[in-house]
Amino acid sequence: MANINHVAIYLRKSRDDENEADVLSKHRQTLYAFVEQKKWTYDIYEEIASGDSLEFRPEMQKLLKRVEDEIYDGVVVMDIDRLSRGDDEDRGKILKKLARYDVKVITPQKPYDLNDEDDSMHVGFKSFMARCEYMMIKKRLKQGKIAGAKQGKWTNGKPPFPYEYNRDTKTVSVNPDKLVTYRLIVEKYINEPIGLQELAVWLNLAGVPSLTPDSPWSSTKLHRLLTSQVHLGKIVYQKTRGNFRKDGKVTKRSTDEWIVVDGQHDPVKTEEEHIKIMTKLQQNSLIPKKARPGVRPLTGILYCAKCNHRMQFREKTLKYGSKALYALCAYQYPDGRNCEQVGHRLDNQFFDALFDGILSNVSTTVAGNKDEVAINELRTVIGQKQDKVMQEEKALKRVYTSYEDGVYSADEFALRRQGREAAIKALHQEIQALNEKLAMLSGQYSSFELKQQVKVFKREWKKASSPKQQNSLLKSVVTRILYDRNDDNVDLRIIYK
Ligand SMILES: [Zn+2]
Repeated sequence: MANINHVAIYLRKSRDDENEADVLSKHRQTLYAFVEQKKWTYDIYEEIASGDSLEFRPEMQKLLKRVEDEIYDGVVVMDIDRLSRGDDEDRGKILKKLARYDVKVITPQKPYDLNDEDDSMHVGFKSFMARCEYMMIKKRLKQGKIAGAKQGKWTNGKPPFPYEYNRDTKTVSVNPDKLVTYRLIVEKYINEPIGLQELAVWLNLAGVPSLTPDSPWSSTKLHRLLTSQVHLGKIVYQKTRGNFRKDGKVTKRSTDEWIVVDGQHDPVKTEEEHIKIMTKLQQNSLIPKKARPGVRPLTGILYCAKCNHRMQFREKTLKYGSKALYALCAYQYPDGRNCEQVGHRLDNQFFDALFDGILSNVSTTVAGNKDEVAINELRTVIGQKQDKVMQEEKALKRVYTSYEDGVYSADEFALRRQGREAAIKALHQEIQALNEKLAMLSGQYSSFELKQQVKVFKREWKKASSPKQQNSLLKSVVTRILYDRNDDNVDLRIIYK
């Protein structure tokens, strides 16, 4: 009982004491003496009436509420019986709560650690202990993390560039070489009229080693690096909420729910620099949003054949004030080279050529007959896998009950649980992959369906009055148009649905 400092003394007359008038005061004195001899601090809860059920024991209810505040290391009673003599349900409620908050039950004869198997058996609630032990482990882990974060200890795995984690001290330190790079990035971004993309190119060309050896600097990487509060010397915890075990869904918490505390690691940027960075990022992100155009006829379907990236559209004002739409490839390679694709004006001629292309190529396109056999086979396999998931889930449930019944030790339980969970996860992944394949197979048009669709396209195209209508008409027959221009030759390769 090394870690006991503050306890609750709980006193209650039991029915058997009715005849002895001073039994309660005797108990009181005994417990005071016991607690004082241990040099513990304490609060007293003394039940005036002697109700058996929890409902009629207001002091116990008060005590259990305070237990949730995690202020007590133990509850001191004359005898285990004083704690709970009502029905099993009441007893369960009380002991479960004490166990969950790791509050020991202490009698002058013996302390009971509710998380100790022998002790809990002695107290006689073995069966539900197993159930809540699992919950407690989880809770303690989480509390440990939060407590760690509150002390400024690093708890979130791999720290960001330019920090490195020290396993022994559980803190992070700055790698001096990486720090040079980091400072370069911060200062360049703050002091020069340079955007994230330009900065990424600049770093790649300068041969500055990236965060990961295989992938070059990019605007997303720089964004993450520049906005992180870790570099202010802070530790951020609870950014996400989720339950990997239950459904695997993890959601982002809003920023006001984050725990941000001063860490033990050195800051590598100042608050002032952080504000400058955030202000510049915000200003830069506002411009494109406002200027973002509506849907163009070829939005989402026109791709550059030279680099395979989506083409962009720009509107230019011509000499006499009329406007013209251009398609161009704006892709920039990590080393800053621009894609060499030459753009083209999207005038009537262009669309006429596209229209003719779509109509004339469809007859030569071997649109695959929809493979009904393959589709059915896939459906069967997916069904089988789903059955397997159900079996595994049942088995997992059995693992839990067996553990609760004391069949497994905690280690065996963990091992078996992990095995089942891994199997379930793997199955889910397989099913997802199969479903994607199925969607692809059944989404394809048969050649008959495609020809029908192209007929509709042919009939409606000239009538389409808005870019949006044109866009959805095109999307009804093609998935991609690969654009390639060499000198004045424009080649449009059409990939049908
Ligand atoms: Zn390109």
